[in-house]
Amino acid sequence: MSAITPKMVDSINDQIRAELESAYIYFSMSAWLEDQNLKGMAHWMKKQAKEEMEHVEKFMHYLYERGARVVFEALEKPAAEFDGPAGVFRTALKHERYVSGRIDKMMDLALAEKDHMTASMLKWFVDEQVEEEASADEIVKKFEFLGDSASSIYLLDRELGQR
Ligand code: MG
Repeated sequence: MSAITPKMVDSINDQIRAELESAYIYFSMSAWLEDQNLKGMAHWMKKQAKEEMEHVEKFMHYLYERGARVVFEALEKPAAEFDGPAGVFRTALKHERYVSGRIDKMMDLALAEKDHMTASMLKWFVDEQVEEEASADEIVKKFEFLGDSASSIYLLDRELGQR
C-alpha cells in the first residue's frame, strides 16, 4: 500500500467539512419545515441530514484505514429562512449538484495522483450522488407539477413523511 498524499488527505478532510455542512443545512431546513408544521417534509429532511452524517463517517473511516489524520474545520452558518417548502427542495437540489461537482474534482485529483485506493472509495460517492440528485429532482418536479396550493403541500407532506 503506497502512502496517501498530503494533498489527497487535505481534500478528504475538506470534504468531511462539506458533508458536515450538508448535514447542518439539512437540519436547518428540517427545523424550518417543522416550524411550518410540515412534519412529513421535516422528517424527510432530517433523514437526509442523517445520511450526510454517514458520509462524514465513511470519509473518516477511510482516512483511519490509510493511516491519515482527520482534521475538522469550521462550519459555515446555515440559512435559517427559506422561500417556501418548494424553495427548500430547490435549494437542496442545487446543493446536491454542488456536492457532486466536489466529488468529481476529488476523483480527478485521485486519478492525477494515481491513487487507485482513493478513486475506488470515491466511486461509491459518485454513485451516491446520482441517487441524491435524482431524489431531490423528483421532489422539485412534484412541486412544479402539483403547484403550491394548500392541498398540494398537504399531499406532498404526507408522501415525504413515508421516507
Ligand atoms: Mg453527502
